[in-house]
Amino acid sequence: MYSYTYLERINNKLNITNFYNFLIYDIIFTNMKKILLSPTLNLSARISELEEKGKKVLNLTAGETSFPTSNYIKKAIIDALKNNYTYYSDVSGIIDLRKAICSKLKKENSINYKPNEIIITAGAKQALYEAISVICNHGDEVIIPTPTWSTYVEQVKIANSHPVFIKLKPPFKLRYTDIENKITRKTKAIILNSPANPTGSVIDKNELEKIANLAIKHKIYIISDEVYEKLIFGKKHCSIASFRSKIKNLTITINSFSKSYSLTGLRIGYAAGSKNIISKMAALQSQITSNACSLSQYAALAALTNKNTDKYTHQIIDKIYYLRNLAIEKLSQIPNISYTKPEGTFYIFLNLKKVLSKKYSTSHDWVEGLLLKKQVAIVPGEAFLAPGYARLNFAKNEQVLREALKKIGDFVNVQT
Ligand code: PLP
Repeated sequence: MYSYTYLERINNKLNITNFYNFLIYDIIFTNMKKILLSPTLNLSARISELEEKGKKVLNLTAGETSFPTSNYIKKAIIDALKNNYTYYSDVSGIIDLRKAICSKLKKENSINYKPNEIIITAGAKQALYEAISVICNHGDEVIIPTPTWSTYVEQVKIANSHPVFIKLKPPFKLRYTDIENKITRKTKAIILNSPANPTGSVIDKNELEKIANLAIKHKIYIISDEVYEKLIFGKKHCSIASFRSKIKNLTITINSFSKSYSLTGLRIGYAAGSKNIISKMAALQSQITSNACSLSQYAALAALTNKNTDKYTHQIIDKIYYLRNLAIEKLSQIPNISYTKPEGTFYIFLNLKKVLSKKYSTSHDWVEGLLLKKQVAIVPGEAFLAPGYARLNFAKNEQVLREALKKIGDFVNVQT
């Protein structure tokens, strides 16, 4: 079977009949049967079922905080509506937002991009999908460190490419040597996620520099997912594209307004990369969704430019740091569950291996037991290609978090 990247398809290198034959074969016989429902969304459906039956579930699953977004963002959306900003925008996004992103990337990440090197997308998820689709050929390999957010894996498969996994052990710190061992002639890209979902680990700057050198040496793309960059504790986030122009040209930096501004439902994110790749992503986007929602773009503009924005994000980070320490303190009192202290994000990755038993022999079963017996929902490690673990989101109402941790302790104590 032959296959082509979106780059080639979009460049019109293919004869149109071949292209459609290929597309039909591709979609019907290979793609549709392979795609898995996002496991966290799957779990949300299970929780809704219990709630419909009248059970109160303490839900520590979804990848979002439970804090409301700021008033200045809400006002920006209302103003945009009053101004009738309800029409299509440029596929790549409104120019003011792309300029604001360039300023942000220069000031906070020390990377110089021009507006035509930015594309605004319906969340980081769409940016990742487009980036992977545009750069990957059939049969290419993409290196993904695990535990990992499963969307990367599915998106690589959708692009008819192969995920190649690096299995990290606690404390889940990625080293360049782990990557070096996995590079083959087919390696097209490496996906980096720092701070990482689900482990909360951060790639150290010196390792990041070595990874950059490796990517340059082997001409491998870096897809750098930095959606948790602001949610980092006592460290400064480092963007791999900031090192030098050679690595900047190979990197697609992905970011989002979902996590730091509590805007998950608005579906607004972006990618920054070379003009060549970004324009191909725009061509792809023009055929699937066109621009990201216009009102969400104005919300994002306010998030970047409003004078209160730093104050708001600092408040969020302080709150998350407080809840992280609370969760660590309570978890340390529960026997046989260990964890790695997260350096960023709002997740703690629990090691359940010592509490697995005949009754609950996998983390999936254990988490299901916790849900049914104590109505506490967390995500089993299987969802992150890490059986034996589970992810807990601590960016919740403090009372909910305290109650949930107490019930987890009770559940463990009943088993032992
Ligand atoms: N990247 C990572 C690592 C995530 O955990 C998530 C969401 O959970 C996303 C990207 C998607 O973010 P968005 O809401 O912007 O699509």
